[in-house]
Amino acid sequence: MNSILEVKGLKKYFPIRGGILGKAQGYVKAVDDLSFFLQKGETLGIVGESGCGKSTAGRTILGLMEPTEGEVLFQGQNIFTLKGDALRKIRREMQIIFQDPYASLNPRMTIGSILEEPLKIHKLASAVQRVQQVKELLEIVGLTDQHYDRYPHEFSGGQRQRIGIARALITKPKLIIADEPVSALDVSVQSQILNLMKDLQAQFQLTFMFISHDLSVVRHISDRVGVMYLGRMVELAPKKMFYENPMHPYSQALLSAVPHPNPREKRERIILSDDVPSPANPPTGCAFHTRCHACMEICKTERPILKQTSDEHWIACHIY
Ligand code: SF4
Ligand code: MG
Repeated sequence: MNSILEVKGLKKYFPIRGGILGKAQGYVKAVDDLSFFLQKGETLGIVGESGCGKSTAGRTILGLMEPTEGEVLFQGQNIFTLKGDALRKIRREMQIIFQDPYASLNPRMTIGSILEEPLKIHKLASAVQRVQQVKELLEIVGLTDQHYDRYPHEFSGGQRQRIGIARALITKPKLIIADEPVSALDVSVQSQILNLMKDLQAQFQLTFMFISHDLSVVRHISDRVGVMYLGRMVELAPKKMFYENPMHPYSQALLSAVPHPNPREKRERIILSDDVPSPANPPTGCAFHTRCHACMEICKTERPILKQTSDEHWIACHIY
């Protein structure tokens, strides 16, 4: 296995503070013992309902948030133990694309200065080289060097996401975590951006962790799919396997709500019983047991671990 990233037992808990002293009264377990890996050059789609910890996981993996526990190995190195130059190098090699590029683009800066900033911070190029690199990159993401002196508000949503992508690419990363990168865009623009990401992936040998709640989008872009539920990975499989034969009861329920591309192959709709339980007080045993149609006695007390059931298929469920 040629993995570029390995996440092992990652936890991110947020304290719930109260009382006069503001002592932690409990924890929101946003990411709770998450493990998975990313193969070099692939796109792993991470799906799950909102609040399942996808975004927090992405940010913790990038080191934008302090982990509570666990390891993130990037090319074999645990990034949480790195400091100084080694950490700065990793920061360049792992980048993020946000859902709403507008919120993350400084409205008072020109596109040129926004894109040059990471090069300055990391001291990657001279002033002349910076301008040249940024202009080249603008062309690569489907804009033009005419856009160099413009401001974010002069662009459409899709163009802004192209700028967000350019900003992620400017430091020549190997891994990009894209957090709902097309969710804020019109459907017609979504496919343009997804196709751009695919082209860039091939051109620059990028690896993507693609976070999305939209199973159709994930189907379009991913090589493998990982399903998160209450901070944990419950199923991990190659795309075809996942969409044709989801095995975890939660994955089955999620997919049953999506129209099948072949309308003759009808899937029975599985309605999920309750709302998602609070990550501050997750159910015992299998966290999904309160909503699972296949729940057994053991599920209420014993937490199923993520197990490899066949070559490339991983499931956390007592059925298997
Ligand atoms: Fe359902 Fe039990 Fe499997 Fe959890 S472990 S998904 S409750 S069958
Ligand atoms: Mg999110």
